[in-house]
Amino acid sequence: MIDHFRVATRAAEYTREAQTASIRRTVYVHIYDDQTELRNAHARARGKDPESMGEVAGGMATQTTHGFHWPRPDPGPVLVIRLWTGQLTTRTIAHEATHAAAVIFFLDHMAGWDSRARRVLLGDNEALCYAVGDITADIIQQLYKRGHIRN
Ligand SMILES: [Zn+2]
Repeated sequence: MIDHFRVATRAAEYTREAQTASIRRTVYVHIYDDQTELRNAHARARGKDPESMGEVAGGMATQTTHGFHWPRPDPGPVLVIRLWTGQLTTRTIAHEATHAAAVIFFLDHMAGWDSRARRVLLGDNEALCYAVGDITADIIQQLYKRGHIRN
């Protein structure tokens, strides 16, 4: 890891009920210039064999001391996004941010840990994350192309 920092959101204040308005969710961002190191760290955080991870350009993992699983989550799961310097693209960053946002959305806006949304928001939401990454990247590209954003 060559760098790390934190970002945070108070997105919960936009809920209709505003019961969770004071919640500030933090996401840790770890930057790697070694893709293998990133893959190994991501696999370790997910409790998986690094060999099974394939090529990982970016990764997002939910980590806690006691586990983030049934019957309910720890009150403060640690959200970690790992990014590789070889692919610091809008597409990848938006993709990984969506993974993190899905966890935050589930924690602060769903009816409960047993919600059927858990399978999607904490599980396989790759299609959602790719869609957000693609749409965001394509909009940014068009904004540059049309001169609305300048380097
Ligand atoms: Zn993904």
